Amino acid sequence: MSIKDEFEFINQIAPKNTYQTALIKGIGDDAALIGQDPMSELVICLDTMVEGIHFLESTMRPSHIGHKALAANISDIAAMGGIPTFYLVSIATPGHWSKENLLEIFEGMRELGDQYQMDLIGGDTVSTNDSLVLTVTVIGKVEKGKHLLRSNSRPGDIIFVSGIPGESAAGLSLLLEKGIDFPFNNDEVHLIKRHQLPQPRVELGSILANVNHRVALNDISDGVASEAHEIAAESNVTLVIEKDRVPYSSFIKNISRKQQLDWFFYGGEDFELLGTIDKSYWKDIQLKAKAKGIPVCKIGYVSEGPASVLLKEEDQLVAIEKKGYNHFKKNR
Ligand code: ADP
Ligand code: MG
Repeated sequence: MSIKDEFEFINQIAPKNTYQTALIKGIGDDAALIGQDPMSELVICLDTMVEGIHFLESTMRPSHIGHKALAANISDIAAMGGIPTFYLVSIATPGHWSKENLLEIFEGMRELGDQYQMDLIGGDTVSTNDSLVLTVTVIGKVEKGKHLLRSNSRPGDIIFVSGIPGESAAGLSLLLEKGIDFPFNNDEVHLIKRHQLPQPRVELGSILANVNHRVALNDISDGVASEAHEIAAESNVTLVIEKDRVPYSSFIKNISRKQQLDWFFYGGEDFELLGTIDKSYWKDIQLKAKAKGIPVCKIGYVSEGPASVLLKEEDQLVAIEKKGYNHFKKNR
């Protein structure tokens, strides 16, 4: 299914009416929100990783697969401003996967889950014919009313990003070229780790949730272009990204700026946060992020106009396409 089809498809299946009055946000953001008690809201999301589509034996060890499947979900909770608390795992395994390797997948999840004191509370174990499929559900919480939606962006906001999106794609490119067992140098190991063991930005999500002013937030699973488009569409604004503000990685060597820009916009799987915030709150966020050692940088501004994403270079504005990158297949 192409990305465009995927969005059409989700729109078609999304219920027109809902029954439960506790539902705050259903389909259409990084995670669903359900009002729980006077103090908090439940945050719930689900993400699937498929062998051959999201990973190959030559790019990820079993523990990396587990880590990343859980990280992708924790990242969606962070993008709502929430804290993860519980997870459930469905695993569909083909015969050629050994028990040791399957256990290692769960070990990868456990190590990451421990960092956040998350409990594994259920799941399902089934067999499949060819590829391994791992589906993880994460439940989290956010203080009542503090959740952050993609629809919160307004003209005049600044656009920011955490970390250096594109490093994961750079790591993947090395893995695909040289294989997982290659004796990589330190810079390369940094990039490969960004691909295999991404660290979701839960702390930054919480800092942003506690601004107590609207912040539009999305996590970067499909690349900055796709995530920026989601904010633009949900908020009905134009996001202008300034080319000379795009952060470049000091770990990426001997690669053209053009390629790095391509990874930034279309690489994906960085699980960094992309958001927009009222200008007057930006300095405070920078200080709080710096105090926690979290890199954040301004990359542009929001303006009035049709839901779209533009790249600004000097006085020229060029439309950024809404597309994601698929690593191993032509279409997703
Ligand atoms: P993200 O990239 O943040 O994980 P997606 O783009 O995968 O989000 O999904 C967008 C929205 O559509 C989310 O709210 C997600 O829960 C919902 N969604 C995706 N696939 C389905 C499905 N098969 N059934 C119901 N909801 C879905
Ligand atoms: Mg997301």
